[in-house]
Amino acid sequence: MTAPDERARPAIVTVDDDPGVSRAVARDLRRRYGERHRIVRAESGEAALDALRQMKLRGEQVAVILADYRMPELNGIEFLERAMDIYPGARRALLTAYADTGAAIDAINVVDLDHYLLKPWDPPEEKLYPVVDSLLETWKRSDYRPVPETKIVGHRWSARSSEVREFLARNQVPYRWFASDEPEGQRLLDAAGADGMRLPVVITPDGEALVEPSEPELASKVGLATTPSTDFYDLIVIGGGPAGLGSAVYGASEGLRTVLLERTATGGQAGQSSRIENYLGFPDGVSGAQLTDRARRQATKFGAELLTTREVTGLEANGSARTVRFADGSAINAQAVILATGVAYRQLSAPGLADFTGRGVFYGSALTEATPCKGHDVYIVGGANSAGQAAVYLSGGGKKPGARSVTILVRGPSVRSSMSYYLVEQIERIPQISVRTCTEVAGAHGDDHLERITLRDSNNGGTETLDAQWLFVFIGAAPLTGWLDGVVERDGRGFVLAGPDLVTAGQRPEGWPLDRLPYHLETSVPGVFVAGDVRAESAKRVASAVGEGAMAVMLVHRYLERL
Ligand SMILES: Cc1cc2nc3c(=O)[nH]c(=O)nc-3n(C[C@H](O)[C@H](O)[C@H](O)COP(=O)(O)OP(=O)(O)OC[C@H]3O[C@@H](n4cnc5c(N)ncnc54)[C@H](O)[C@@H]3O)c2cc1C
Repeated sequence: MTAPDERARPAIVTVDDDPGVSRAVARDLRRRYGERHRIVRAESGEAALDALRQMKLRGEQVAVILADYRMPELNGIEFLERAMDIYPGARRALLTAYADTGAAIDAINVVDLDHYLLKPWDPPEEKLYPVVDSLLETWKRSDYRPVPETKIVGHRWSARSSEVREFLARNQVPYRWFASDEPEGQRLLDAAGADGMRLPVVITPDGEALVEPSEPELASKVGLATTPSTDFYDLIVIGGGPAGLGSAVYGASEGLRTVLLERTATGGQAGQSSRIENYLGFPDGVSGAQLTDRARRQATKFGAELLTTREVTGLEANGSARTVRFADGSAINAQAVILATGVAYRQLSAPGLADFTGRGVFYGSALTEATPCKGHDVYIVGGANSAGQAAVYLSGGGKKPGARSVTILVRGPSVRSSMSYYLVEQIERIPQISVRTCTEVAGAHGDDHLERITLRDSNNGGTETLDAQWLFVFIGAAPLTGWLDGVVERDGRGFVLAGPDLVTAGQRPEGWPLDRLPYHLETSVPGVFVAGDVRAESAKRVASAVGEGAMAVMLVHRYLERL
């Protein structure tokens, strides 16, 4: 692996099949350029191409390539022609013997050669360095800067490509996106030896190419923790939204050995919010990504373990231990558990829509799709704050360039009853945003991606089909608590009951084994608490989720004292 500071130095690559000459060129280059450039030496065209492909994947810069003309197998011109496919911006020079100057002159046209140098190049101060200086100058003025961070090569209409982008974005992993049908995307696929049939291809900063990676595979390659360090904790927090992150911060900071388990990326619904305006202490608003990043750092600082891509599928009480199971059958234990699994977006059921999820139809993932939406017409389904925020964000807020038009589709006669007043005011001020009331989506159409939607007027049943490539759906959410069946009590909609909601006429819930009533956020299983949106009758706000996370930890302490 190349050290990061090595990568920052643009390379000068030299290839010559005569080892003595190759070493001598490299030595002369190193003497003058070694401090600012990495000198990479190869003794055949194929070996040099391999090195260039590796550097391409690692996002390293190549400024200059010097190739000997007479080499067996690939001659210098053939080599430079192929090297150009990998690094079109690198400046090129050919080393030739006097007898080959004719070939070198021809190469000026074939491979857009910048210079040819006659062997021997002694003294280098006169014959080699002025040429390389000028090549470096030309390269510096050009605009080919490879990207050292994670790269995704994908297709705009590939559902998996957008899922991977969203996953990395929500985990705050910086990445650069390359379309597979554009030249640089194609060059990266070639360097990775991928045919582009299976997308996306994710290239890690170390240059490893992952074809259609799963989320756990991606998580481990980009440095996110996925494996618990032990099998017994004081506190297991399930869910990494504001309630779970709040619990992890308070749990760890108050001395509990705490692990947080998140099935995808931390941040939960709040992580998808472009601007949270009503969270205490942030008068100018804060993006969900920023809030999540800060909360993650805070929880880690206090020693909490945060594991991503770990979906919990089972919970059991084993004596005083609470056992939490994962899909692969493995399990960890703790003295207490906080359920903070929140809610997930409901899917829209109109005919055809399911076929276009991630290919024009998106559930809540407006943030990662904002750039490709620029200049396009966008439709948003839903009348609550999340829909309003997405509309403001995708339109560019009236300040930045954004979508050409944003149409909010709502079933009711107005958004005023379902959206906060400040957001209604904002969307009224932004000229690109319009609200189409009494409207529902009746169908979706297209070939490999969304091309048209049919809308139905709920007053008269009339339909209209419009061109539409972007549809974002924010139509409310439901708790995903099926895995708690038969374990903790829930209401008819699947929300977890706790504390006073479990007590009828002063009586303890059925099967409750203790001689006290459940604490305020305690579920029907002692030592298992609930916080945030997944709790029945919760407030569905960031502040209340964080607050309940903190309060649940306080109740965990009370529970542990009495064990
Ligand atoms: C776009 C948008 C904008 C919003 N804007 C605002 C706003 O401006 N102000 C405001 O106060 N509120 C806002 N809200 C609401 C607010 O985000 C939520 O109330 C809050 O996120 C709830 O937090 P939570 O931790 O309870 O649940 P969630 O945020 O839903 O997090 C739950 C987490 O648990 C994980 N999980 C679920 N099941 C499992 C499992 N079995 N195993 C492991 N992990 C699991 C999920 O992946 C998720 O990350 C907004 C919501 C959205 C969607």
